[in-house]
Amino acid sequence: MNFRLFTAILLHLILAPAVAQAPAEELGPVNMRSYTQTIRITFQSEIAAQQARLSILPLFHDCRAGFSTRWDDSNINDLRAAEVMTKFGQTGAFYLNSLSSWYQDNKATGITLPADPGTEIPRKLLAGGNSLGGHTLNHEMLPALSKNAAFKEILGNRVEIESQAASPVLAFVFPFVFFQSPLRQGVDRADLEEMLRRSGYYLLGEDDYNQSRPSDFLDSRFIVEDGNISDGTLSNFLQSTAHTDDRPLFLITMHAWVAAWGGPDFPKLAEIYKKWSGRNDLWYTTQNHYAAYRYQALYSRLSVTVAGKVLTAQLLRPDPIDLDDWTPLTFSLDGISKSDVVSVDSPGAEVKPIALPSSYAFDLYHDRDRGPIDSYAESDNTSNADKLAVAKGSSGNLHALLYRRGQLLSLTLRNDSAQPIADIRVAFRLPLRWQQEVIHKQLNTLPPGASITLEESLTERPDPAHYSDGLEYDVAQVDYRSQSRSRLYAVTEVQGEDLSRSFARNGFLILGPMPGDIAGFDAQAFAKNPLQSDPPAHIYTLPSGETLTWRTLDPVRASILDPDIIPTTGRSNIPNSYSWDRALYNAHTGLAYLLYGRIVSPQAQTVQAIYCKDCVKQLFLNGQVVPGPHLALRKGVNDLRILYKPTMATMSDYTENNYGCYFRLTDSNGKRVEDVQFEKPPQP
Ligand SMILES: [Zn+2]
Repeated sequence: MNFRLFTAILLHLILAPAVAQAPAEELGPVNMRSYTQTIRITFQSEIAAQQARLSILPLFHDCRAGFSTRWDDSNINDLRAAEVMTKFGQTGAFYLNSLSSWYQDNKATGITLPADPGTEIPRKLLAGGNSLGGHTLNHEMLPALSKNAAFKEILGNRVEIESQAASPVLAFVFPFVFFQSPLRQGVDRADLEEMLRRSGYYLLGEDDYNQSRPSDFLDSRFIVEDGNISDGTLSNFLQSTAHTDDRPLFLITMHAWVAAWGGPDFPKLAEIYKKWSGRNDLWYTTQNHYAAYRYQALYSRLSVTVAGKVLTAQLLRPDPIDLDDWTPLTFSLDGISKSDVVSVDSPGAEVKPIALPSSYAFDLYHDRDRGPIDSYAESDNTSNADKLAVAKGSSGNLHALLYRRGQLLSLTLRNDSAQPIADIRVAFRLPLRWQQEVIHKQLNTLPPGASITLEESLTERPDPAHYSDGLEYDVAQVDYRSQSRSRLYAVTEVQGEDLSRSFARNGFLILGPMPGDIAGFDAQAFAKNPLQSDPPAHIYTLPSGETLTWRTLDPVRASILDPDIIPTTGRSNIPNSYSWDRALYNAHTGLAYLLYGRIVSPQAQTVQAIYCKDCVKQLFLNGQVVPGPHLALRKGVNDLRILYKPTMATMSDYTENNYGCYFRLTDSNGKRVEDVQFEKPPQP
């Protein structure tokens, strides 16, 4: 947990004059817009007013911890999990992938796919008071993707779920819990966190995510993982006497699998809920409410003045539009007795007294005119056209078009309704190529029939090469008020730059796969000729009679990969598991590939190659075997051949190594070598 600012925000007890309000001020690590509320508390006496200490409680109703449930992937058996949760008054988050793609681990639940699953299933999941979270569109291993592809997976998932399920999304979990590989030295993790921040997420429903490396994200602690119960951490936490700012979120997790929970009615889940439901010291909540409460408690600012019997507090608090949640804040008044309080009110917002044993307490809601969003929509401009008529989808009353020309991003809004459109707030959510992160704009009222165009000049980051290839996904989130509060996402997709040839991705031909499970077949012996003969032959024949020729992966698939990956399959699992994909499927396991490429160097130089040491079985540079990571390049063309056999993860066949061979050249300081070019050799 990150509590660095907690003590700073609790309150300013000193009787200071009210600070000048700064309504545009942005709060916390995801720079949420803010607004000010006034709290007026009248006491029986001036002494009570002087002695009262007003504070924001660290968790809703001063609970010791949050308690919630996390379900991953778009499994239609989530519906059974939701039924069990409702039975026990439990709520949680369903972390979904693309709403057009669902699966089922086991039919024993009797649940069948509804006719319109993308609408029906979220509606049923939400009916139990649950929230939805992001888990990427296509469940790829994010570090294996190009920056632009990863950004679309992350933000596109939020845009789709919000606009189709009409429910806010602020929490995220990583597919395969995979957010970093040792090969990338933390850059992958930092970049993914930055993408998540820019996309509007601020809670990661991962187990103690901040322990290995602190981040600005709220996180959680697991007490049950797929039926494996380890709730001792929660027991210990609740028994500990230290009653501090630490108010973690405990989670039951992770897959609604019949096998994991003891049968189609999930008896093991029911058992856990029976044990842990109905306690006063736990906040049974969604991950959205937990995150929004904690973010507000950590980053709101409170200043207090006292005049006579009246204490007036100014609360600078994140805007619920940016919180994406409307959870109230709990305040306590200490240093006085409960009977000293005559009244508490806030102009424009509901105040609800609550019963806490030791102090007077109340919940302060968000201002009434900042209420929840009633309708969501998405307007797509996938061809990056500049004509408003091209944009597909609209909110019915607001038409929007987003497009980019060079470094200029344009958003046109047109009011197609008979009502004025007011309180228009735009957040441009930008991929990592651009320095601006999220650009916030506030617009005046748009009369019926009127339109307006906003233009933003973008600034490229100083090291754009790794960040600008592939299809770029740009989004303008437009929040506004018409008859009700609405959100419209305007989306464009822009063809990025050609990949710099100093990356390995496009510089190789592949031969294979060669089987690893046939007695008597030794891939290393078979590879001797294609690795060493100059040039290699056009065709090779496996003992099975199957022939292999040099090829490249479909560019559509290859282009979404990290530019440091030489593509083999471009998929996270072994080819054996893709029975429906004839181009990819291979019945054998332990597959190996031969990679054949060229490196053109402007000078003789020794560089360091970073790759998976267990996967690269042999590396030949200019006909010579190279054992270590140092490659002595000669001036001009260098011939590079690799025998690559992706090693498997211990628990599953999914691994980043299946996508292809990570291969990056660095200098002695670890900096990527930019003066070389990877060149695909001519087809032998
Ligand atoms: Zn998953």
